[in-house]
This record gives sequence, C-alpha cells and structure tokens, in this order.
Amino acid sequence: MKTKKVAFPETLHDAIKYFADEDRALDFMKSIRWPDGIVKCPRCGSKDVSFLATRRIWKCKAAHEKQQFSVKVGTVLEDSPIALDKWLCAFWLIANAKNGISSYELHRSLGVTQKTAWFMLHRIRLAMQNESTEQFSGRVEADETFIGGRARNMHADKKGRVKAGTVGKVAVMGLLERTSPDKHSRVKMRVVKNVRRPQLQKEIRQEVMKGSEVYTDALRSYSGLETEYVHKVIDHAECYAKGHVHTNGLENFWSLLKRGIKGTYVSVEPFHLFRYLDEQAFRFNERKDNDAGRFIKAARGIIGKGLRYVKLTGKIGDDGLPKKAVSWWTETWLLNHLRLETD
Ligand SMILES: [Zn+2]
Repeated sequence: MKTKKVAFPETLHDAIKYFADEDRALDFMKSIRWPDGIVKCPRCGSKDVSFLATRRIWKCKAAHEKQQFSVKVGTVLEDSPIALDKWLCAFWLIANAKNGISSYELHRSLGVTQKTAWFMLHRIRLAMQNESTEQFSGRVEADETFIGGRARNMHADKKGRVKAGTVGKVAVMGLLERTSPDKHSRVKMRVVKNVRRPQLQKEIRQEVMKGSEVYTDALRSYSGLETEYVHKVIDHAECYAKGHVHTNGLENFWSLLKRGIKGTYVSVEPFHLFRYLDEQAFRFNERKDNDAGRFIKAARGIIGKGLRYVKLTGKIGDDGLPKKAVSWWTETWLLNHLRLETD
C-alpha cells in the first residue's frame, strides 16, 4: 500500500528513484498505454480482463490464444525482457540528451549489454518519430545537405556535392517552419534518394501548405515551386540573407546536427541516419518544453507503432525508405546475427 503521494519527477535523478518502484512504473505505463484508464485486451479489444497483481499482467476473459498480456504488448517495448524502470530511464535520457546518446553510453548508464542498449535506442527513436501529417505553413525554409560517409569532413560547394564526392553520403532534405505568433519554429527532415528536382519538390509539396512562402538557395532543383508557393531565392554566391529571405535557420540546424553526430557517434551508418534525424528533430521541436514534458511526449509515441516495425538492420528500398517489415522474430534474429554496432 502506498503511504504517500510522490511528485512526478523533474530530473533524471528523480526519475530513477520514482520508476524504481515497480507499481509506479506500471501506473505510468498504464496511463500512456490506456489514456482513458480502461485496460483493454490488445488482441480482441475486450475490457473484460483481470489483473494478476503478483505478475503485474492482465488476463483477457475471452477465449483466444495469448490471453495474458503485459503493458508492453502492442507497443515498441513488446517482447522486451528489460524491466520498465530501465526502459523509462532510457526514455528520459534519450528525450533529453542534447546531442543524443550512443549505445555505449546507454549500456554503461543502465547496466544492460551494449547490444541491448542499441536495441532500446532504436525502439525509443521509433517512438520519437513524428507521425503528424500537419503541413508547415507561413514562412518555410527548405534546404538540403549531405551527411555521413567516409569523407564526412569534406565540405565541397553545392555544385561539387551534387555531382561527385557524395560516395557513402546520404542526402537529407530539411524544412523549417519559422516562428509565428502562436508557435515556435519546427523542423522536419527526410532522407532523400538524391537532390534532384522531383525528389526535393515532392517533399515540399507534401509537407508545406500551398500558398506558403518558401525560401531556398539557388539550386536549380527548387525552380518551379513558384506555381504553388511564394518562392523566394537567396543566391549564396551573392549574399546569405535579404531581409527575411534566407535559409539561415536550417543552416544553423545542419551545423548543430552534424556536430551532434560527430560528438556522440563513431559513425552513423547511412541506413540508420533517418532514425537519428527523427530523434534530433524531436528534441528541436520540443525544445521549449521541460525534461519531464519531453519525456512524456517521447513515451506517448510507444503506441500505435506496433504494426510499423521496420527492420533495424537492412537495406533501404528503391524509394529511399527502409524496406518494411519483417516479423519480430526475424528482426531479433537479424540483430543477433548481423553486424550489430553501427552507432
Ligand atoms: Zn482478448
């Protein structure tokens, strides 16, 4: 029986103590998993379930396979033997680490194997993926960059980057919606196959509301946007800003991003880059919140992604997106048998 109410954690130190209590960790997870407070069987949706307190799991009373379920079933934590307190501390750490956290750091901080830490890190990134389909509007910067690869320190000019010198590098398209009276600036990033017109404009048309102002540099891939947008171009050969026409918000973001990758990771394998981008975009977009708020937002992302598991090790499909999806068992097998450490 709980004797006193404990305040929700504000710091990592609070969080470790708070979630060390298994009942509290479970209560928190329940509130995320079933926000309306009604526990439902993840297989049949029935509310007619009983709680097996000693094992902290539920049992569905309907007749079907796998009647017993834990709070993890149907979330990115599904099938994980790692206890909730470690999961929740990992969420706290990752949601709030400014430049991200490597699997080695997570392994040392939580006392799990490095392989487990790698696995946790990727699942937490999946939870941090922004699934909002809300388009950007108002004033929007669009820019592209190349990340990773062997020649990661190389800084060629744009012409050079588009042609040669991109071996092992991944093209990333970024959009930044500028601060407006009712919201602060936000970014979206996407790994793209190349930086040619169809690729870049497809992203813009999908993510930016028609009629918005779009600022780009003079790369020819952006020409033609003026049919649907108020497209304004800043030619970096001339200057970097003309009034509010510039892409400096994204340029700053790119340099932060690259510094983060360099500082935290030995290398980021191109295939995993998009996960890292999701993680960094999450922290940037939630930067006005406090640590507890970011933690809760990240944790809320655990649901609804159960069917969208993608291979953690594998190839990118022809569309530049990861090939989906193999069974959970296969994924685990792949993780155990393929080269594990990539970042
Ligand atoms: Zn059921």
